[in-house]
Amino acid sequence: MSKHIFGPVPSRRFGRSLGIDLNKRKTCTLDCVFCQLGQTNHLTATREEFVPVETVLSEIREWLEKDGQADVLTFSGSGEPTLHPGLGRIIQGIRSLCTLDILLLTNGTLFDRESVRQAAKQADMVKYSLSAWDQESFEQINRPHPDISFSAMLKGLAAFRREFSGRLFQEVFVIPDINDQEEQMRRIAGLSEDIQPDRIQLNTAVRPPAQSWVKPVSREKLERLARCFDPPAEIIAEFRSERQSPTRINEERILDMLRRRPCTQEDIAHSFNLHPNEVAKSLGELVSQGKVQTTDKDGISYYIQNQSPGTPGD
Ligand code: SF4
Repeated sequence: MSKHIFGPVPSRRFGRSLGIDLNKRKTCTLDCVFCQLGQTNHLTATREEFVPVETVLSEIREWLEKDGQADVLTFSGSGEPTLHPGLGRIIQGIRSLCTLDILLLTNGTLFDRESVRQAAKQADMVKYSLSAWDQESFEQINRPHPDISFSAMLKGLAAFRREFSGRLFQEVFVIPDINDQEEQMRRIAGLSEDIQPDRIQLNTAVRPPAQSWVKPVSREKLERLARCFDPPAEIIAEFRSERQSPTRINEERILDMLRRRPCTQEDIAHSFNLHPNEVAKSLGELVSQGKVQTTDKDGISYYIQNQSPGTPGD
C-alpha cells in the first residue's frame, strides 16, 4: 500500500495531481495560524530523512506501472517538503521514470540554504507563501521555529528567483484584522517586487484552519486587496457559494452512483459538491474493501462497482 503518495486528485489550476508526502504528520518550520493540517507537532529547522528516498521512488514507480494518469506530481502533504534532504534526489529519480511536470509547494523558509535551492530548482513549478511584511507579523501569522528569520527567508526567495527558470507562484493568505489592510498588502506587494514571482495568488480560510478564530475575508475584500499588486493578484480562494453547498460523504450514495455508471473521481466530487481529497479517501477505502474497482478508458480512470454473484445486472 502506498504511504507516501496520494491521489491523484483533480486540482482546478494544475489538473490531475498526484501528491507526494515526504514528512511525518505534521513536521514544519512554521506553525501557521491558518494551516489546514492543524497545529505543527514537530516544529523544526533541521532537515531529516523522514522516509528513505528509494521508498518514495518505488511507490511512484509502482503507481506509474499501474496507473500513471496525472498531469502533475506535487510535493505537498503533511508538512514542509524541503525539510527532507533527499528532495533533489527524489526529483532526479522521478525525471528518470517519467516526463510529468513536478510542482513543489513550500513555505520558502529554507531557501537561504544553497542545498535547498539546488533541490527546489529542479522542479518545473514552485509555489511559496508570503503573508507577512516584517519579523513581527511573520511571528504573529506564521509562528516560525526560532532559527527561521523573515529577512533571511526573503533573501533566500530572491536568490531562488534568480537561479530558477521554471514558473514561480506566490500565495498570500489573508486573515481578518491581521493582514487585511491595504497598507499591509502594499508592503507585501513591495517585498514581492524584489522576488519577482510569475504570479501572485490571494487565498483565505474557506476551509477549517488550525486556529478556529481565523475566519475568511469576503471575496469583495480580496478583490480590493488584489489591486494592491501590479499586475493585480489572482484570487484562488474557493468560496462555499461557488462550490455550492457541500454534501456529507456517504459511501452508499457513491456506490449507488457507481452501480448506475462508471464515474471518475471528479464526477463524484462534482455530483456531491465534495472536496476531491474526501472523495479520494472514500474511494480508496471502497477499493480496499473490494466493493469498487478501477478501469481505464482512453487514458482516464473510471470507478465501477464490483458485481457480487447474484447481483442482478441491468
Ligand atoms: S507552512 Fe504550510 S504546512 Fe507549514 S504550518 Fe504553514 S500552512 Fe501548515
